[in-house]
Amino acid sequence: MNEVFLSVLRSIVGVANVLTHEDPGSDLGAWENDWRGLAQGRALAVVRPASTQQVADVVKACGAHGISLVPQGGNTGLVVGSTPDASGRQVVLSLRGMNKVRRFDAANATITVEAGCVLQAVQEACEREGFLFPLSLGAEGSCTIGGNLGTNAGGTQVIRFGNARDLCLGLEVVTADGGVWTDLSGLRKDNTGYDLRNLFIGSEGTLGVITAATLKIFPLPVATLTSFVAAPSVHAAVDLLKLAAARLGPALTGFELMNQQALALVAARYPQQRVPFHEVSPYCVLLEASDHESEAHGRALLEQLMETAFERELVTDAVIAESLAQSRALWHVRESITLAQAEEGAHLKHDISLPISAIPLFVDEIDRVLQQQFAGIRIVNFGHLGDGNLHYNIQAGVTDKDGGELSRVQARITRTVYDSVASFGGTFSAEHGIGSLKLGELQDYKPAAAVRLMRKLKDVLDPGNVLNPGRVLPLG
Ligand SMILES: Cc1cc2nc3c(=O)[nH]c(=O)nc-3n(C[C@H](O)[C@H](O)[C@H](O)COP(=O)(O)OP(=O)(O)OC[C@H]3O[C@@H](n4cnc5c(N)ncnc54)[C@H](O)[C@@H]3O)c2cc1C
Repeated sequence: MNEVFLSVLRSIVGVANVLTHEDPGSDLGAWENDWRGLAQGRALAVVRPASTQQVADVVKACGAHGISLVPQGGNTGLVVGSTPDASGRQVVLSLRGMNKVRRFDAANATITVEAGCVLQAVQEACEREGFLFPLSLGAEGSCTIGGNLGTNAGGTQVIRFGNARDLCLGLEVVTADGGVWTDLSGLRKDNTGYDLRNLFIGSEGTLGVITAATLKIFPLPVATLTSFVAAPSVHAAVDLLKLAAARLGPALTGFELMNQQALALVAARYPQQRVPFHEVSPYCVLLEASDHESEAHGRALLEQLMETAFERELVTDAVIAESLAQSRALWHVRESITLAQAEEGAHLKHDISLPISAIPLFVDEIDRVLQQQFAGIRIVNFGHLGDGNLHYNIQAGVTDKDGGELSRVQARITRTVYDSVASFGGTFSAEHGIGSLKLGELQDYKPAAAVRLMRKLKDVLDPGNVLNPGRVLPLG
């Protein structure tokens, strides 16, 4: 039966684009194992379509043979949602080969790209035309537009431009029955019924396969100023955010918080990087301002902001990058935290979001409770403070070399963090999604009525459970 199915797949995408374990010298690890190394799947095949029609035919064939598939882009997702389960019965549908820019429309300020385009390639294509595509995240060199929309990715410029959902004007989607729904017209206004686009965005490949998207683009700023400051507390950092928002308005394009432990890990793991203030300050903030007038104008605004921040004791030290190279180096520090945590070893991730006003008290309380109850753990707290999104991660203690102690208490730590987040009105997944990692939390913390509606939608749009089953919603 597998052979018949595989030969159907080969007839659709070509022999070279159906990879199996039976191929001589095959190694499917890059498609089967998740980025964090939490899950090792086994695929029946990895299929690499080159067109929307091929995707539609593959989805139809899967439905007809009772085989489910997992859409995959760059496989950088952090919640085990893009890799197959261990059954050896699922197909990985890799969209990476669909990577063309279909249309650039300067007057409409849109770009239409295929789902497999790597995010950085889209940013660069826009920049060459004098435009900005503002979605930006640490994995941008490998993650794809399909994955960004599948997870409704956030990143570092949400404070100004919103998340992936806000940057998308239209989609082309292959539905579970192998049909194609196309809406790539790039309209900014279209009130003709239910919002299908936003149903597929963030659905993590469980409702449809995104094959192309029309994205909003923006004029490139004349100057981008980056500042790295030492803040005495989270309270001070939130006050600095308020001040910066009032002074800079829409020019405030990034506001990232990093605690001392997060920066210490970067300094220890990457000694070649210069990490400012990490030995002296409990928190640092990376603040980015984009100016549409001139570099001098932007710099003057930022310097005035810093003066006031010093007067109000919101910052104790600050640098403003003097060149693009310096700015990149400061951002590199921020973006290295996730990698430094991975290299350091066992850790827990909590991608949480709270009302910004609640964050200082939340951090005071949860820091205190965890340090009391779980001596030795290292709290690595960083993230997109401007969006109320923290990566409140826990690294195994320095003496817990193999992470055995952390794994013994991890369920209790995570429960403590999420209970506290919920009590402050927040959520347990801000931008990474649910995948298979947070199915339990969805049941525990999402209102039952919402989960029931989600289940109904899944049953209607994918009655045969062909698309990424067991992700977002548990099987059955
Ligand atoms: C170092 C690092 C930093 C990161 N920083 C951030 C960050 O700041 N903000 C953030 O939001 N995320 C971040 N992430 C997580 C990750 O990069 C994003 O979730 C990204 O959007 C995933 O894109 P991808 O192409 O790798 O998708 P994959 O990992 O391949 O897939 C992710 C999910 O989307 C689905 N999917 C993939 N392609 C499609 C498609 N064409 N149609 C439908 N569904 C699809 C998959 O089935 C899966 O459920 C980071 C990850 C790393 C490794």
